[in-house]
Amino acid sequence: MMNIGVLALQGDFSEHISMLKRLGVTASEVRLPRDLAGLDGLIIPGGESTTIGKLAVAYDLMEPLRQFGREKAIWGTCAGAIFLSKDARRDQPLLGLMDITVIRNAFGAQVDSFEADLEIDALKKQDQSPYHAVFIRAPIIETVSGEAKILSALADGRIVAAQQGKLLATSFHPELTADTRFHEYFLSLAR
Ligand code: GLN
Repeated sequence: MMNIGVLALQGDFSEHISMLKRLGVTASEVRLPRDLAGLDGLIIPGGESTTIGKLAVAYDLMEPLRQFGREKAIWGTCAGAIFLSKDARRDQPLLGLMDITVIRNAFGAQVDSFEADLEIDALKKQDQSPYHAVFIRAPIIETVSGEAKILSALADGRIVAAQQGKLLATSFHPELTADTRFHEYFLSLAR
């Protein structure tokens, strides 16, 4: 049985927990460093990356999260992807675990949220159909360097998903759709 934690400082952590439970995984909320013990992987949800960062500093989670990410799987969705990056073009706490830089709110305000079908080769082993992705005040991944590689881009080339070993970053929100393929892909990295 896999144990996956979801960082529960702010944002839509409960949707990730529901998705993990649907997949038969033991899912728990992470708020303190000790909550990381015994986990096989961690999801950092969407929300507001500045708030998640400030709370992570306040709860002494920054170094424990970095240490966890050097050994185990972490997946950041939207604000979580920003938090995993090494540069978000402004001064806010970042884990800096992934060799990606991001541009926050790159598609505009809340009203400019949108949905798009993506081609993601990594998911196609299971099912050939495009992946329907939900973007809410999403960042784009501006650059992918070092060990990181591109997992998916929009038709115009803007990068919206990247992977670096067991680390994953997505601009969009797989926990808000019924498609479980992205969560299953993350579980395959955590295993
Ligand atoms: N706009 C948010 C940020 O910059 C991210 C939005 C989201 O997670 N849906 O942190």
